[in-house]
Amino acid sequence: MNGHASFGQILAGQKALVTGANSGIGASIARALAEAGASVAINYVSNPEKTETLVAEIHEAGGTAIGVQADVSQEDQVQTMFKEVIDAFGTLDILVNNAGLQRDAYIHDMSIEDWNFVIGVNLTGQFLCAREAVREFMHRKVHRGCSCSAGKIICLSSVHDRIPWAGHSNYAASKGGVMLLMMTLAQELAVHKIRVNSISPGAIKTPINRMAWETPEAEADLLKLIPYGRVGNVEDVAHAAVWLSSDLSDYVTGTTLYIDGGMTLYPGFHEGG
Ligand code: BGC
Repeated sequence: MNGHASFGQILAGQKALVTGANSGIGASIARALAEAGASVAINYVSNPEKTETLVAEIHEAGGTAIGVQADVSQEDQVQTMFKEVIDAFGTLDILVNNAGLQRDAYIHDMSIEDWNFVIGVNLTGQFLCAREAVREFMHRKVHRGCSCSAGKIICLSSVHDRIPWAGHSNYAASKGGVMLLMMTLAQELAVHKIRVNSISPGAIKTPINRMAWETPEAEADLLKLIPYGRVGNVEDVAHAAVWLSSDLSDYVTGTTLYIDGGMTLYPGFHEGG
């Protein structure tokens, strides 16, 4: 499916925080959660104008949204952000750990700054936000009348949590780390009725990978890696985030949903091998 689907008000009354949400996949998830009835906090680091535009768009569509600035790799900023969100909404039900970035280099050229920057945002950022969310979920417990769970965490990972990616060792290591962070938290927290899952997108049209799809030649090359024959849209990911946030997926925890048009199916083996 290529367009827009609706789950109705399946998240009515729930409160969500989406990190890195003023562009790309994060913005689409924020829109979709709001459309499903959740109040949404849109975290961003830069470009407050883009956040304001998204907040206004959600309000116009009848939803509730606020913007919250924080660098997710910084403990003090994350703690302040959670306080702001909980003050504004009263509690939190859904954390979408989406903030992520690339700083690509071959290993012989990769600086410690390139390494620390990517690990800091993509992996430490997910730990810091998950910890604050879990503290709120455990304190509040099951949110009766809103959800049969005490909270949901969705970790945005990547197909590169299992496909090695030359020239991107910092990014692949961060996403491999997210996978076992997610599974370990899911195992640790199930007893508290907190569900933790990952979404691992393949090639989705966003600013992060513009060079891979913006010319017809680049897109044709990319499609060789995607058996389903199209590059993904942000909505493909957002629909999964709504489902994983809702009670429709109440028995799902510790799982990774690959949204990749088959990229993880080793497409080279269609003829080879
Ligand atoms: C990366 C994109 C890439 C995709 C598939 C994503 O995790 O951020 O740049 O196009 O994986 O390789």
